[in-house]
Amino acid sequence: MKNPTIGKVKRIALVAHDLRKEILVEWAGFNKETLIQHKLYATGTTGRLLKKRVGLEVTSLISGPLGGDSQIGAMIAETRLDFLFFFWDPLAAQPHDPDVKALLRLAVLWNIPMACNRATADFIISSELMNSEYERLLVDYSTHIQRKIEGV
Ligand code: PGA
Repeated sequence: MKNPTIGKVKRIALVAHDLRKEILVEWAGFNKETLIQHKLYATGTTGRLLKKRVGLEVTSLISGPLGGDSQIGAMIAETRLDFLFFFWDPLAAQPHDPDVKALLRLAVLWNIPMACNRATADFIISSELMNSEYERLLVDYSTHIQRKIEGV
C-alpha cells in the first residue's frame, strides 16, 4: 500500500461533543486564518456551529450520533481525509460510543494526525508541517491483507 501524501491544503475533520463544542468554536475562531486555507469537514451540528459562529466554510456531514463519526472514519479509510480534530467529552457517556471508539481506532490505524484536546490542537495547528506536504507513513498491513483464509 502506497504511503499517502498530505498536501499543502489539508482535508480536516472537526468534531466536538456537546459539552466541548464551545471550546472548539473558540479555538476555531482563534485559528480562523489558518483554517480557511484548508478544506474543512465536520459532523452535522458541529459544522452548523462553525459556519454560524465562526463564519467558516465547512462541508457538514451527518450528525455524529446518527452516523457522522462513521462517515469520517470511512473517509479516513478511503484516504479522503488528512486531519482529525476531535474534542470528545471524557465526562459524558455517548449513545454512539462504539462509533467514537471506531473513529479513534481508524485515526490511529491510518496514522492520521489527531487532536482530542485544545492543547494538542494548538501544537498541531502551529506546526511548521502545516505549511508543507507530508508523507504519511503507514504500517505494513500486507500480512493481514494476504493472510490465508480458506476459500479465498
Ligand atoms: P454533532 O456530532 O456535531 O452532530 O453534534 C458530534 C458527535 O457526537 O460526534
